[in-house]
Amino acid sequence: MIGVIADPSEEGVIREFFELFKTPWELYHSNRRYEVLLCTRDCGFDGTAKLALFYAGRKVQFDGEHDIWVAHQRTQSCVLLYEGKRIPVYGETVVFSEGGENLLRDERSRQSAAYVKHSGEKVLARIGYDLFGEVRKLLTVGQPFSNAAILTLDLHIALLRDLVTGSGIPLVEIPPVPEGYRFMACLTHDVDHPSIRKHRWDHTMFGFVYRAVLGSVGNFIEGRLRFRDLIRNWAAALKLPFVYLGLTKDFWRKFDDRYLELEKGLCSTFFVIAFKNYSGESSGGRARKLRASRYDARDIADTIRKLLAAGCEIGVHGVDAWLDSPKGREEFAEIRRLTGVSEIGVRMHWLYYDQQSPVALEKAGAAYDSTIGYNETVGYHAGTMQAYKPLQATRLLELPLHVMDTALFNPAYLGLSPSQARITIDRMIHEAIQFGGCLTINWHDRSIFPERLWETCYRELVEDLKIRGAWFSTAGQAVAWFRKRRVTVFETDCTEPEAVCAKVTSDDRENLPRLRLRIHRARESWKNAGEPEGYIDIPFDNSIETPSATRLAHE
Ligand SMILES: [Zn+2]
Repeated sequence: MIGVIADPSEEGVIREFFELFKTPWELYHSNRRYEVLLCTRDCGFDGTAKLALFYAGRKVQFDGEHDIWVAHQRTQSCVLLYEGKRIPVYGETVVFSEGGENLLRDERSRQSAAYVKHSGEKVLARIGYDLFGEVRKLLTVGQPFSNAAILTLDLHIALLRDLVTGSGIPLVEIPPVPEGYRFMACLTHDVDHPSIRKHRWDHTMFGFVYRAVLGSVGNFIEGRLRFRDLIRNWAAALKLPFVYLGLTKDFWRKFDDRYLELEKGLCSTFFVIAFKNYSGESSGGRARKLRASRYDARDIADTIRKLLAAGCEIGVHGVDAWLDSPKGREEFAEIRRLTGVSEIGVRMHWLYYDQQSPVALEKAGAAYDSTIGYNETVGYHAGTMQAYKPLQATRLLELPLHVMDTALFNPAYLGLSPSQARITIDRMIHEAIQFGGCLTINWHDRSIFPERLWETCYRELVEDLKIRGAWFSTAGQAVAWFRKRRVTVFETDCTEPEAVCAKVTSDDRENLPRLRLRIHRARESWKNAGEPEGYIDIPFDNSIETPSATRLAHE
């Protein structure tokens, strides 16, 4: 059990942190004994804990009391190196003159951002940044896109876990990995352009013709497009007048059939726009006209019914819900009416979002949101692959978005070739397996058709996810699984001393994969942390008690 000593104002962010690092903890009680004490503010605590951890990015009284020499304090963000990995720190940091054991180093100065002292069985570790301040920044402001590729929050969790087990203390947690799978994958589609016939003489039509005819030549020369796809795009551009005349089929229309075929029973999530010809509000007034869609959700009612019947999920592709709850409620009401489903999630069109959005979306009636990601790149805006509760929200969960097709291929963004995109996604799948969580992917409705033709890459991506052990869930199922993990509590009144009990406190009605209790063995040192043989997993349904968890962990 970890006892936490922190400023009372930090309680919200601490609670959220320990939903993501699901391990037994509580706010410090002076009459209890803890194996691990985690402090972020000065206070007198007794010295009985086996591991005392102090995280702060500035010099504190604790340093003077324990003869810890702070060499330097820095107010700008920096990068710390831990086990060969880079951890960006966005707030203040301190480095120490001595005693770091090479645990954590400033990337630029190579000075130690950790001070460690062993005395007998006991360990004191002073870490030179403010853990909960960092978590707060990641869950609110998020990371700049220069650090998008770094799972910063998950690395903070990994470091803390390693500090505990490396101090010779076993640790129990419920990892963000459904039993029977290695990670979760959520396939989603923003439905922006379900018909090219609705785009006559507008920027979408001109953009299509330009990219199909000329842009394709550039893409072909640069190796981003195959010759036969170049021909396909030219043919599509030539056919366009006949599409408008109704003489040939609308080649953006049948996205539902094509995705159902590509996904072969893996249920995906489609976010659809409720009302057409409305660009909505931006933070600086009316959004650009280009943002308006040319379809109403009711225009594709048949498609919606077909997708629902196939087990897919329909969510709101929100226009105003992110800042205007009454208008958001209208968007939700329309999608509820068309689907007959009451619990509806949302992703905002063009990923519009600000600090008030979690509250606005909650008031609009969103079951979850999946907007937090980047338009320009792929990666981890909040530094995690886990669904989390934004600190401003009371119930809403955020399922962050990690991979968007347009960010991968658009020359204005990453502009990757299909093979480069595969390498990027491959790295992210590897990280999902290593850290757990849900890799959320957005492939737009028209992306598999001319002139984008990103179907092959999508098919290979789905195949890769399958081979590597993903649980494919709709966005709603992924969120439900994380909620099930969140309502699981650790109990102290087990039948045997030193046992660990965990209990799911609500009914599992949705037939979701089971949870697993992971018991990390105590280790001799902080080296080679995270190796698979360092833990055992015990799957469970609604409750579990491991009579000799600690003994098991030592074996
Ligand atoms: Zn959109």
